[in-house]
Amino acid sequence: MFKTLSNCRLCAGDFYNKTLKLKDTPPANELYPTRIAAREAQKFPLELVMCSKCKHVQLKHIVNPKRLFDEYVYKSGTSNFFINHFDKLAELIASKYPVSNYVLEVGSNDGILLSSLLKRDIKAIGVEPSEYLAKECVGNNQIVYNSYFDEKTVNEILSTHGKASIVLGNNVFAHIEDLREAFKNVSKILDSDGLFIFEVAHLKYILTDGIFDTIYHEHMSYHTAISMEIFCKDFGFKMISIEKIPSHGGSLRFFLSKDQKIQVDSSVQEIVEEEKVLKLDSEKVLELIEEKINMIKLSVSKVMNDFQMKSKSRYIGYGAPAKVVTFLAQMDLEKIDLVGIIDDNLSKQNKYLPGSGFEIISTEQMKQVLLKDEAARDFGVICFIFPWNLKAEIVKKLHSWVPNNSNGVVFFPMVEKVEI
Ligand SMILES: [Zn+2]
Repeated sequence: MFKTLSNCRLCAGDFYNKTLKLKDTPPANELYPTRIAAREAQKFPLELVMCSKCKHVQLKHIVNPKRLFDEYVYKSGTSNFFINHFDKLAELIASKYPVSNYVLEVGSNDGILLSSLLKRDIKAIGVEPSEYLAKECVGNNQIVYNSYFDEKTVNEILSTHGKASIVLGNNVFAHIEDLREAFKNVSKILDSDGLFIFEVAHLKYILTDGIFDTIYHEHMSYHTAISMEIFCKDFGFKMISIEKIPSHGGSLRFFLSKDQKIQVDSSVQEIVEEEKVLKLDSEKVLELIEEKINMIKLSVSKVMNDFQMKSKSRYIGYGAPAKVVTFLAQMDLEKIDLVGIIDDNLSKQNKYLPGSGFEIISTEQMKQVLLKDEAARDFGVICFIFPWNLKAEIVKKLHSWVPNNSNGVVFFPMVEKVEI
């Protein structure tokens, strides 16, 4: 069900000796129908290593992608942030980069970027392995190939539509086991004067903001400009520009070209230099991240002790994204007495988180449970707000209904109590 790498997935180089070993966790997107099953969920090792040759930070143990992704239903269109974010990208393409043939999006998800491009009269084609998501796109008159981005699909697209003017891939290249195959296919389908634009979460923020909860089995790669620049050359790409973007706690948007004569923007050197200062190209970074996680763990246990000594409030959680599974496991919070976790996503409700076995329920259900709970009525609740990127939104939602004397806690960029 999982394999352990002995060499780098990108360049076959040796790993440094230093590794960052986290507690074993179950695949973070697998929710269970019962608490017992969730608590007994199969766990896999979670360990980061760095390649000594290309400096790529990656998981040492790769869980079978079929198990990780076959039921994958994360929909980017459900988040307003991503609807706006991708609309701006479509606008950037429409205003700055002429598309003579079509734009291809690898991992087109529910098609929000495709529709933003189509709206601007740009021909756009998607490739999406999830049958559920691909069907939704085809239903909206979009051209979407329901398959993996493999050679067969690339040949099929080439013979029907010719070469792509631009290839896009957003939040997809951390999830692909064989990144060499993916980049080879991009190179094959992209026109010689075309552009390859893609977004990946930046390793930097795991270190600077401590967002280690983005480490889970689905994320096999933790990218930097330094390692990406080395990697992309193997496929004839030149890194010409990088943009810093806010997605997923901080990401990089890379612009690659096959044209070796094209001028490189100063952003590439700036970001590479910044990464060197932060030691993102040295095994030292794994040690620094480890220290950071230990510091966060200390702060969390201090806050928890404080609550246990001074308060009789009930614990509840808000938000059950995949990263919660890593967070609860590494912070030793899986055994706390938590009423449940509120999540507005219908497909998650009335299911149980792997590992902790916490139940995911709707706001209405939580209100009902708390009404009958004497401690909650008398002493309020302490709400752990897990999705750090949605803090303000969640505080506002909670404020309108939580019992008196309630408090919230956020964990990033630092552990702090917040008024709700
Ligand atoms: Zn490597």
